[in-house]
Amino acid sequence: MRKKLILINPVNRNRIGLTVNPSSRFPPLGLGIVAALTPDDWSIKIIDENFECFKYEDADLVGITSFTASVTRAYELAGFYRAQGIPTVLGGIHASMLPDEALHFVGTVVIGEAETVWPKVISDFRRNNLQRVYRAGFSELRDMPKPRHDLFHPGYLFGSIQTARGCPMDCEFCSVTALNGHRYRQRPVEEVLDELEVLPEKMVFFVDDNIIGYGRAAAERALLLFKGMIERGIRKDWFCQASMNFADNEEVLAYAGKSGCRMVFLGVEAETVEALGETNKKLNLKVGVGKYKEVFRRINRHGIAVLGAFIYGMDSDTPRTLRRRTNYILRSGVDVMQTTYLTPLPGTRLFGMLDEQGRLLYTDFPGDWSRYDMTEVIHNPLLMKPHELARAMAESSQRLYNRRTLYRKFIKTWYTTRDFTTAMWAYSSNCNYRNVSLGLRGKSLRR
Ligand code: SF4
Repeated sequence: MRKKLILINPVNRNRIGLTVNPSSRFPPLGLGIVAALTPDDWSIKIIDENFECFKYEDADLVGITSFTASVTRAYELAGFYRAQGIPTVLGGIHASMLPDEALHFVGTVVIGEAETVWPKVISDFRRNNLQRVYRAGFSELRDMPKPRHDLFHPGYLFGSIQTARGCPMDCEFCSVTALNGHRYRQRPVEEVLDELEVLPEKMVFFVDDNIIGYGRAAAERALLLFKGMIERGIRKDWFCQASMNFADNEEVLAYAGKSGCRMVFLGVEAETVEALGETNKKLNLKVGVGKYKEVFRRINRHGIAVLGAFIYGMDSDTPRTLRRRTNYILRSGVDVMQTTYLTPLPGTRLFGMLDEQGRLLYTDFPGDWSRYDMTEVIHNPLLMKPHELARAMAESSQRLYNRRTLYRKFIKTWYTTRDFTTAMWAYSSNCNYRNVSLGLRGKSLRR
């Protein structure tokens, strides 16, 4: 009889946070890859709490992925299966950073990139010899099986695809290098194009932390990818993440725009050298705060909107500096405005430092992990009280996301990109963040 594998994408049930809007949810690619690596004689189902309430289904083996903010739910779901004696395997960023914690709640933990060990997990399961921990190496990203996009819930508005992993930067608050390493690894362009061709969705999110990468070779490879999309007639509207160096090469920008890039997420974080220094945001410092506007303008000229992400709650922040940050966001030329609280995630230097200094507000783990979703004050800021930070965020949200400002931003994006569709993308993303901010404001007022 065919064995049954259930794969689960758990969602924090109490707090929707940044995924309040359906267009901010993306298919769980990692589970799609695990499914693709599972032999054909298994039946596989993905239960995705982004869209459906979990209902217990019998299985021979259960695989769960999780971020920090959803890990409490992951542990809860694993418990239902463990009670029935069904083996559970947990992977993803949180379990990779805190495997000892995870082992209290699941039978097996996969640390790192699952594709290098999943075939062994399956063969050990068959021999009734599942290990407690599998430590995965870094995959070379060649000849990877295409993720099982056919198993993802049809409700997703965006398809997801990955072209590279790893980051040579070392930002204080980021866990990417701890999980994916410092080396920027890239999939062969032809393999990415083959996968893009079978994605059914018209809108695509490139999940890479930086689609352009770092250095000349990476930029040339990005250029090949964008040209390849045009040559093969792959018509997608797409969204990606990158660093400030996205604007370095006019030719890359031009082909990004021509191949359908509508919006790029840039981690701007802050507008002062002091704040960028304390988060070790070297690339932004190198570009220079004074040059940001020009970076945004260059991107806009190719019909691409800029989603600028800003952090509130750094050590040099006070209510007054945050008011200035809000002023800056309004005038900076970014099209979409994202503001989140500085959030110490496990495995980062930031978490280690705040923990050591006794500045974390919520440490009743694992229950409190559900608060670590970037929409709540999690730590004692250095120069103000937590409630002052929450109030500064609430004031900022009122200024950034009122209808008048959003309308002005829409006109600005339409004017600078000369593209109505791009302006609509940016407007709708701002409306999404408005919805998130309404939740933020609710939380701050409850304090
Ligand atoms: S925040 Fe971005 S640039 Fe910094 S380490 Fe993480 S992925 Fe790299």
